[in-house]
Amino acid sequence: MLEKMGTKFDPEEVIEEFEMLTKDAERVQKETLQKILEENASTEYLKKWGLNGRTDHESFKAFVPLVTHKDLEPYIQRMVDGDTSPILTGKPITTTSLSSGTTQGKPKFVPFNNELMESTMQIYKTSFVFRNREFPIGNGKALQFIYSSKQFKTKGGLAAGTVTTNVFSGSLFKNTMKAMRTQCCSPDEVIFGPDFQQSLYCHLLSRLIYWNEVQVVSSTFAHSIVYAFRTFEQVWEELYTDIREGVLTSQITVLSIRTAMSKLLKPNPKLADKIHKKCSGLSNWYGLIPELFPNTKYIYGIMTGSMEHYLKKLRHYAGELPLLSADYGSFEGWIGANVNPKLPPKLATFIVLPDIGYFEFITNVEVPKQDEIESSFLSIEPKTVGLTEVKVGEEYEIILTTFAGLYRYRLGDVVKVVGFHNSSPKLQFICRSNLLLTINIDKNTEKDVQLSVKAAGKLFSNEKLEVVDFTSHMDLSTEPGHYVIFWEVSGEAGDDLLRECSNCLDRSFVDVGYVGSRKVKAIGVLELQVLKRGTFQKILEHYVGLGAAVSQFKTPRVSSHKEESHWKLEKIMKVYSYL
Ligand code: AMP
Repeated sequence: MLEKMGTKFDPEEVIEEFEMLTKDAERVQKETLQKILEENASTEYLKKWGLNGRTDHESFKAFVPLVTHKDLEPYIQRMVDGDTSPILTGKPITTTSLSSGTTQGKPKFVPFNNELMESTMQIYKTSFVFRNREFPIGNGKALQFIYSSKQFKTKGGLAAGTVTTNVFSGSLFKNTMKAMRTQCCSPDEVIFGPDFQQSLYCHLLSRLIYWNEVQVVSSTFAHSIVYAFRTFEQVWEELYTDIREGVLTSQITVLSIRTAMSKLLKPNPKLADKIHKKCSGLSNWYGLIPELFPNTKYIYGIMTGSMEHYLKKLRHYAGELPLLSADYGSFEGWIGANVNPKLPPKLATFIVLPDIGYFEFITNVEVPKQDEIESSFLSIEPKTVGLTEVKVGEEYEIILTTFAGLYRYRLGDVVKVVGFHNSSPKLQFICRSNLLLTINIDKNTEKDVQLSVKAAGKLFSNEKLEVVDFTSHMDLSTEPGHYVIFWEVSGEAGDDLLRECSNCLDRSFVDVGYVGSRKVKAIGVLELQVLKRGTFQKILEHYVGLGAAVSQFKTPRVSSHKEESHWKLEKIMKVYSYL
């Protein structure tokens, strides 16, 4: 682990360690489990299940049940409320991470500790050395769109923030980025500012000032990069004026940000004119990133899973620049590193690092409904296999056991094994394991909805329009119930075109249960609802207001009536299909 490596950074050493770990994945997994169970043998949780100091995987599987977050909530809540007895971890926990709340309904706490911080750095370093071999950067600086969420103390005095906030605020993160020569160059006051729109503006401004130093444009998830450049389209003239005059716009009101930015800003009419010329010369903002930052080597961020929707727009802004998809993890723990950066984003694979946790995989994934995944201990426990027992071509649900107090934890993701690197599996992300849309015998996941939106969105290609973002809903208030897809469109689309899109959306759900149910009218006609421009920004702001970090934001792909009223969806048009 990185503990051994400290923050010194020797690429050869990182590769050597990675090869060594993956060559002996079975042994490393056994030792990792042993270490986790030894360190936490005294915990109330493991004692409750009668593990009695056993550290082998057979006993672990036999005694400790598979759980969901809901099952662990009472334990975590006690920790959050200040109970320092060994509940889930042997060592007391001082920090908790909060989920973004956008993947799993509401924000949730999990323990965060040094081991999670170290595995984060191990993942970052591993993928970096492979990436840097293919796409070397010089003495690089990164335009990293990173933001902290609100940080607060829980009732019991634990520090709480989203996992990215916990990571970004650690000195290990800064030192590691420095060692990899990819540090974010915005002042800390910008990263940790209380208003993400102001932080975003200043991320852009500080990089424009040092435009020629930018070698990498990145964020945790691709959504934040697209969001940043959409914002650039709106505010570029203001940025231009700031650089020209050397005075920060009065829109930036946070004093700490103003003070930090004022130190960087000097009147620079030459640079301002250059930016103006570039922006005025672009057609529909194609190739904006290399135009502004010509030394950029690549764009980097998670582009798989629910991020696939943003790829098209990202490609548009990136021009010919390589798009490199980042690693795979969650606020509960990391899973794998992308060590094949040359693969196109959609085909990105993740090699599991066998020393960062203990991994099991549920075979024969039966996609559960939302309420089933929330339920407590399952009556019939699904069968799991170990890390090195998975089979190429098969899909599995991931189970995590971590150094931070999660034991046999159903992460809720489905992955496909597409090969092995030495003896550690190479995974592709498939989807969240819960179903989004199911009314009758139909079963449609996040991925199915995305594919349907993608197919229908193609009808816009001649119109220079795009689907900015989308979410969905099961409307059971009608008889029979039907699917509703909400869209925000980048411009004006005519009724006929939207009706065609609506038809296409309906036809593009190819699941036999859906097709059959539609035929016999057990499911009604799909409804497309077009939302007012800016609605998805409001949804983002809603979650950020609740404590989510922009860096971790994922648009919720399904909504309930309750959420819709929180989000204040303003529908501008309803379009039914007439199949
Ligand atoms: P959060 O814990 O809110 O940061 O979200 C974690 C979830 O994001 C994971 O459980 C996945 O569903 C998704 N995710 C994380 N990394 C990737 C990736 N590389 N590809 C696709 N989905 C990902």
